[in-house]
Amino acid sequence: MSGRHHILVTLAKKIHGDLAGWIVEELASSIEATDEQLAQKLGVDVNVIRRMLNELYESRLVMYRRVRDVEQGWYLYYWRLTDDDPIRILKERLRKTLSILERRLTHEDNSNFFICPRCGGKFTFEEIADYMFHCPRCDGILEAVDNTKAKEKLRVMIEELKNIIMGLDKSS
Ligand SMILES: [Zn+2]
Repeated sequence: MSGRHHILVTLAKKIHGDLAGWIVEELASSIEATDEQLAQKLGVDVNVIRRMLNELYESRLVMYRRVRDVEQGWYLYYWRLTDDDPIRILKERLRKTLSILERRLTHEDNSNFFICPRCGGKFTFEEIADYMFHCPRCDGILEAVDNTKAKEKLRVMIEELKNIIMGLDKSS
């Protein structure tokens, strides 16, 4: 397997699980394959293969060519690996994760949380403003949550992710 194929297999596995890795491995060794050929080779139900191919397509790890079957009247899909640079796919993925983490941090920064020791419910200040610090669910007395640690953890993750992305930018 080439280095590029190897990265694609690893990405597929990390993002979508083992089956995705096997599919990508299979596509790396053939030029293209239909869902039914893949189902047969891997011994997996064709519907499961189809669902996974769609997921892989959304992550831009595979692409397809559609051909109309003149006799049957339906379309056949020939799947193959993406032409995209796998490092670019990885970077895109990491950037998406980064923006999710940044949004979460902003959310934590902008809100005070309250937790109910009785039912475990977690609420924002807005949600409990009308309840005089009592749990809207069970009437327990709410406690303010200190989210300093959670925020610190998020900041560290964001920094690490930024460093990884910067490293990839330099390598390509
Ligand atoms: Zn409660």
